[in-house]
Formats: sequence, structure tokens, C-alpha cells
Amino acid sequence: MIDPFGRRISYLRVSVTDRCDFRCVYCMAEDMTFLPKADLLTLEELDRLCSVFIAKGVRKLRLTGGEPLVRRNVMSLIRSLSRHLKSGALDELTLTTNGSQLARFAGELADCGVRRLNVSLDTLDAAKFREITRWGDLGKVLAGIDAAQAAGIHIKINAVALKGVNDEEIPALIDWSHGRGMDLTLIEVMPMGEIGVGRIDQYLPLSMVRANLERRYTLSDLPDNTGGPARYVRVAETGGRLGFITPMTHNFCEACNRVRITCTGTIHTCLGQEDATDLRAPLRASADDALVSEAIDRAIGTKPKGHDFIIDRRHNRPSVSRHMSVTGG
Ligand code: SAM
Repeated sequence: MIDPFGRRISYLRVSVTDRCDFRCVYCMAEDMTFLPKADLLTLEELDRLCSVFIAKGVRKLRLTGGEPLVRRNVMSLIRSLSRHLKSGALDELTLTTNGSQLARFAGELADCGVRRLNVSLDTLDAAKFREITRWGDLGKVLAGIDAAQAAGIHIKINAVALKGVNDEEIPALIDWSHGRGMDLTLIEVMPMGEIGVGRIDQYLPLSMVRANLERRYTLSDLPDNTGGPARYVRVAETGGRLGFITPMTHNFCEACNRVRITCTGTIHTCLGQEDATDLRAPLRASADDALVSEAIDRAIGTKPKGHDFIIDRRHNRPSVSRHMSVTGG
């Protein structure tokens, strides 16, 4: 799968549910309306759709959400998809999770060949954690991280940088993550979906965060070898890696190798644009994969060159109407 700008698509991110057991303030409104269950692809349909993408050249698959581990029976999907790791068709099967269910599932995930996980965690302060997530319990997430590490899974922590909320705590997050052998990636808040508050109140440019960190740590740029949007530095004092994902201050689209599908079977070829193509109808229209395969090709043919998120006082509205929980970040 090659898009109109010559980019090879080898990475598929799949939102397996739009539901979540947290209500992070920058991600969702507290009273979110979720999709009717009848609109969702079944786990068997998700498996089939992922397998079509793998047959077309996807080498890395990430399950996300919503919270992927709250979808009922999600482990049966993960176990089934792990056959593509065994066959060598897939290089990596991974998840992005809030960690709340990890204590329960870590062993089984490791058994299915999951070697790395991204865990989203914005603070180590239990009260602040509750404020940010509205419903979350920090203790459960930390227990989940312990369980995953004990099962031999490599963890990367993702933290959204939030003005006036966790900016002071970033050094503590670096020391804690690196002390436990985990990379940490900082993410700028992106203007996705109506959440009831303006983004200008939350947005903290990572260029400022980096400048502040440089007063305390020695940061040296690492060559970008992940193909992803993060730019990495080595922190001399901890020996660990620190990533910066800066959709607002740095455009990372030139090397984009990814597309996303939602739990209803819609493909979005860009996180930051409204483009969307339905794959559910062609998937359901025929037991043969030819129709859906053609629809995927058509969608890849419309992949935009890049996104243009803007947050300033004149644009304090969502750039994209979908919430992050729909496309999974
Ligand atoms: N529930 C899982 C989790 O917490 O990782 C997976 C889905 S969550 C939508 C994926 C990531 O998107 C999380 O790291 C979350 O912090 C981030 N996120 C959500 N809304 C965001 C926004 N508006 N800007 C930047 N990151 C956001």
C-alpha cells in the first residue's frame, strides 16, 4: 500500500472500542455518548479486517481505543491475531492502554507475543491522577505496570503535557520512568473533539518544556529510527530515552506510515483531518475480501499530505470533530 505521496503504509492502529473506564479531561467530556453496540464490528470482523491489512503489507498492528482492554473478550481477538506473529506476517502486535486492566491481562498478553506496551500516565500524584482521569485509580495502573514488567513486557510511558497541571512534575516522571527502565514520551495536547473546555487552557508547547528541562538535564538528540512521530533525546543523568510528540509545534507527517480504523470499520488515513472511508459495508457485503481490499486501496489513495492543527485565541475550537477516543490517538 503506497499513498499518493509515495509513503508506504505498514502500520495499522485499530480502535477496538470507543468506550473507556476513564474520562480524561483533555480527551472526553464527562457525559460522553458512546456508539450503540450494534454499530461495532464484531471481534471476528475486526480480526478479518486486520488480516486483510496484514495481507496487504501491514507489519505492525496496535490496538487502542477508548480503552482496548475494556472491550469484552478482547483477549480472544489478541490471541487470534497473534497467529500472524507466529507465521511471520506481522512484526509486532502491541497496545496503547491506560493500564487499569493490565494486572489482570499482562500474563496473557505476554503469552500472545505482545512484547511492548504503551501505557498512558500523566502524573504520579494520586489526587491529581483522579482529577485528570476523573474516574481513574493510580494504584491500579501502577500495579498493572508492575505486572506487565514482571511478565517481561517492555513499557513506554506516554504523558500529555498539560499547562498548570503536570508541567512541574515532568522531571519526576522522567526520573521515575527511566529508573524503572521505561522510555517516556511527552505529547502535546491536540484539538480533537468538543470536551467542554477551551484547549488554550491546556496547551503547553513542548518547545518550552524542553527548554526548561535543559536547565536540569543534559539532553542529546538521538537519530530518529522509529519511523514514528516522536523525536527522541538521551537524558545523560538518567541514561534513559525521552520522546517529544509535537503535532502543534513540529509537523511530523513526511514519514507517516500509518492509517487508523475505528471500531465501526471506518478508515481514517490522517489523525488530524476529517477524511474517512467506510470499510464495514464492503466487509459485510461479501465473504470474499476483494471488495474490502479495493475500498482500502481507494482510501489509501486519498491519504492527505499532512495535518494542520491550530490552537490559538482565534482557533480555540476543535480542528477535528472526532474525539481521540474514536480514532485512538
Ligand atoms: N485508553 C488508552 C490510553 O489511555 O492509552 C488508549 C486510547 S487514548 C485516546 C490514547 C492516547 O491519546 C492517550 O495517551 C491519551 O492521553 C492521548 N490523548 C487523548 N486525547 C488527547 C488529546 N486531545 N491530545 C493529545 N493526546 C490525547
